[in-house]
Amino acid sequence: MIPLFDPKSEVEDLLDELDDVIRRVVRSGRYILGPEVSAFEQEAAAYLGSKHAIGVNSGTDALVIALRALGIGSGDEVITTPYSFVATAEAIRAVGAEIVFVDIDPETFNLNVEQIESHITSRTRAVLPVHLFGHAAEMDAILQLAEAHGLKVLEDVAQAFGGTYKESQLGTLGDAGAFSFFPSKNLGAFGDGGLIATDDDDIADMARVLRGHGAKNRYLSELIGYNSRLDELQASILRLKLRRVDLNNEKRRNVADWYREQLGGLTAIQPPGEKAYAKHVYQCYTLRVSVGQRAAVQASLADAGVATAIYYQTPIHLMPPYRQPALTLVEAERAAGEVLSLPMGPHVTVEDVQHIAKTVSVSYR
Ligand SMILES: *Cc1c(COP(=O)(O)O)cnc(C)c1O
Repeated sequence: MIPLFDPKSEVEDLLDELDDVIRRVVRSGRYILGPEVSAFEQEAAAYLGSKHAIGVNSGTDALVIALRALGIGSGDEVITTPYSFVATAEAIRAVGAEIVFVDIDPETFNLNVEQIESHITSRTRAVLPVHLFGHAAEMDAILQLAEAHGLKVLEDVAQAFGGTYKESQLGTLGDAGAFSFFPSKNLGAFGDGGLIATDDDDIADMARVLRGHGAKNRYLSELIGYNSRLDELQASILRLKLRRVDLNNEKRRNVADWYREQLGGLTAIQPPGEKAYAKHVYQCYTLRVSVGQRAAVQASLADAGVATAIYYQTPIHLMPPYRQPALTLVEAERAAGEVLSLPMGPHVTVEDVQHIAKTVSVSYR
């Protein structure tokens, strides 16, 4: 079986070091927000080139806390994409704000920046672009619109740790970036974890206060906050894995090259593109299959021992809690009917890709 993701293969040759690190933390007696978290925050900030990095409990919490720290709340509108993991939209509603969905660019699956301006109202306060599957959103256009209309920009970088936009690390272009360390992400922990990156001292201070029950000084809460702290074990594991993230992203890019070589010539298949401004880090390898052929391709791959998934089957604006009557987003809905994600990660070999390509080539009419 070729798994879709295989996080354990990334640490096969780090097991001795992991043992040492875990023993060190267990013996230290400090398990939440201690020296490992501080060291990881510093190392992550240095890697990203951001002034601050604040560890939190998940990528979802990173989005919620960052929105709160940006001052977004009830009565505000936030523009985002319907084509993402649900947490992007959920976070907006969790802080009491309203979601304004804008359709996607069919080539990158990211926000169609041409359509943003017409959705800006007097209540719009922020834009929340997602760097979907590891490919940068078109940040210059988003930042220009934000500047012109006085909007905040929060980047959802859950799927793009180490990806870049014109040489800048994703998550450092807007007012803040929200990262996830869910195990299958580019930098994955062995549990939940997340991070907020920002250059702004006030946003960083507020995020730190919010992650610990809204208390500046312990046991004196000034705001209603969250219990959303990164723990020492996850931070120690992330420190070790951070040293490998570039290498693993390069391996992901190699796998994508093999897929393109092997699948690019098939009439029913449209491999994902990479814009000149982006370094794609392929958290997912999501291609399009011609309408009507996807089920057959997916079934043949399953028979051949290849795991696949559909990211995303249901655009968020069609999910019950987020449904807006009369809202049709043509490209997001079309993508949902065509996409198929293939195994992606450092575990995928060139032989796996050959096997997958062969199976796909005989699976459709
Ligand atoms: C994974 C993911 C999240 C949420 O991260 P968690 O750590 O699972 O809470 C948010 N947005 C996107 C685009 C994601 O892929």
